Amino acid sequence: MHSAVIIGGGFYGVAIAVYLARQRGLKRILLVEREASLLSRASYNNQARVHNGYHYPRSYTTAYRSRVNLPRFVRDWPAAIKQDFTKLYAIARRNSKVTAKQFERFCREIGARLQPVDRGLRTLFDPRLIEEVFLVDEYAFDTGKLAQWAIDELSAAGVELRLQTRVTEIAQGPEDRLQLVLEPQHGDSERISCRYAFNCTYSGLNQFRGDAPMSRAGLKQEISEMALMQMPAALNGLGITVMDGPFFSMMPFPARGLHTLSHVRYTPHLHWKDEQGLDPYQKLASYQQDSRVDRMVRDAGRYLPAILQAKYVESLFEVKTVLIKNESDDGRPILFEKHAEYPGCYSVLGGKIDNIYDVMERLDLERFAVE
Ligand SMILES: Cc1cc2nc3c(=O)[nH]c(=O)nc-3n(C[C@H](O)[C@H](O)[C@H](O)COP(=O)(O)OP(=O)(O)OC[C@H]3O[C@@H](n4cnc5c(N)ncnc54)[C@H](O)[C@@H]3O)c2cc1C
Repeated sequence: MHSAVIIGGGFYGVAIAVYLARQRGLKRILLVEREASLLSRASYNNQARVHNGYHYPRSYTTAYRSRVNLPRFVRDWPAAIKQDFTKLYAIARRNSKVTAKQFERFCREIGARLQPVDRGLRTLFDPRLIEEVFLVDEYAFDTGKLAQWAIDELSAAGVELRLQTRVTEIAQGPEDRLQLVLEPQHGDSERISCRYAFNCTYSGLNQFRGDAPMSRAGLKQEISEMALMQMPAALNGLGITVMDGPFFSMMPFPARGLHTLSHVRYTPHLHWKDEQGLDPYQKLASYQQDSRVDRMVRDAGRYLPAILQAKYVESLFEVKTVLIKNESDDGRPILFEKHAEYPGCYSVLGGKIDNIYDVMERLDLERFAVE
């Protein structure tokens, strides 16, 4: 019998498994991941931005938590952090939900540093469309290095790992045990029991058979495309985000030595309200992944002409899962649910990578029996 089973080997599942082993002394922890490798889904296919608040002028809580969590993340995962680039936030003149003045005030309120940019950087932008450009403190993370950390750390913490295996059922067993059904890609399914189960499956949170505990929060699933680009020399050492509306971001993607390009209008291809039985992974696999990179580049080029010289490499398509309640303010809080009707069972969804500390704070308050 396992003391804890972690379902999902993304950043959250791995960090929770390591926390339970190292900080809480749990033995016989099993982590089950449906893919062939760890951190290969949302934890790899993302924009790689270590948020520092700037991105969230409409959600003070998310902005504030980012300010608290960024230094901790940089301290705990130094090898995965890229800081050697210049990060700019540009405010669009039209259709932006903030003006430059409002953005400055907001950054002052959350204590995030803004600096003026030099003329050379300013001339990259079309002044008819961009009101102001600021130099900010924001970093990127290397999703490949986080994956390597996951492999090393699980092994060092003695966590058992099963790859290419899906958990398909969670049920209440006898004597306060939970029963899980594991379906390996090759081989027969297996029923195991455990004291604690952590559902860290992100897009797959509600895709279990039977009467498994469902999240009470409404989730929105979105197929999103980020284009991987080779930037021209003028943009290569930069990350740029245009605020705050139907604009674009280009961020270094250290795992590939490229940049991602995303666009508020073209990155989301398709969205739906999450439902049990509507498997987001299947939906993505059967979706015709026709790139919209041409439209992204064409529109971004109006604001930042040099981007028209960028070379397209390929696209990362992934399902993004967000809480419906944050659709309008863009906030990215965690979801942490303790299922009262299934003692020992938790559902966790991380809105962004550095929110892991918000999960740890919740776990610190839990009592776990060390058997
Ligand atoms: C397009 C996009 C851009 C983003 N940009 C940023 C950003 O710039 N900065 C930031 O901080 N965050 C960003 N995020 C959010 C960030 O990626 C997520 O918050 C984080 O990766 C969630 O980690 P996770 O471990 O919960 O999810 P995942 O990494 O998706 O892990 C869940 C794992 O569970 C596995 N799984 C699912 N169902 C089962 C099952 N039944 N049995 C076994 N295994 C299962 C999956 O295969 C997967 O590996 C972005 C997300 C997306 C999609």
